[in-house]
Amino acid sequence: MGGTFNPIHYGHLVTAEVVRDRFKLDKVIFIPSYRTPYKGRINLAPSRHRYKMTKLAIENNGYFSVSDIEIKRRGKSYTRDTMKGFKERFGKKTKLFFITGADAIAQIPKWKKAEELPTLCEFIAASRPGFRLKKLPPRYQRHTHLIEVPALAISSTNIRRRLKKGETIKYLLPEKVEKYIYKYRLYSSQRESEHVGK
Ligand code: NAP
Repeated sequence: MGGTFNPIHYGHLVTAEVVRDRFKLDKVIFIPSYRTPYKGRINLAPSRHRYKMTKLAIENNGYFSVSDIEIKRRGKSYTRDTMKGFKERFGKKTKLFFITGADAIAQIPKWKKAEELPTLCEFIAASRPGFRLKKLPPRYQRHTHLIEVPALAISSTNIRRRLKKGETIKYLLPEKVEKYIYKYRLYSSQRESEHVGK
């Protein structure tokens, strides 16, 4: 499962669990990107913090783990390089699925060495109900599954906005992640002293 996880929230966790169950996956590996291609770094927390928050968020699910493959590689995080790395690590016969937001999947034809991707993995595009995935070229369409997850009404953008305004983020993400955000004053949080220890 790829994303910036800036920060990780219950929408991501519910998506991962629903997909794991529906596709009978052996495991779900969360891959915080170092730098997402085509995007600036506006309000992007340092990768070590996003990695740590992801670790804290998944610690109660034995099927979940976190990979630092993209963070260690640095530079732009190209999914093709990551999937190639996983194929080498887990063996050619291992079936890989790349799970991420449907907005991102819609852009796949523009990704680096995109034509190689369907030979490496299938795609699972997660969206909130009602989202219509832009028609992909057949080559990618054949390998893409759209999954609706109501919990994706929660979004990292909204959480960052709330923090900026000093609004509560309780119940939108795991409590340990909430405390971590206040402890390290991520996303211009001014309310650390009010929240830490509660
Ligand atoms: P993003 O800015 O974090 O996310 C874009 C949208 O998708 C947001 O609405 C986001 O919601 C949602 N989303 C992201 N990750 C999700 C997840 N795991 N489950 C459900 N929804 C998710 O990320 P992005 O830049 O679009 O990149 C997404 C993934 O695609 C990353 O792994 C990135 O490396 C990969 N990618 C690869 C290439 C390439 O290889 N050339 C190009 C672009 C993207 P939230 O904000 O709530 O997370």
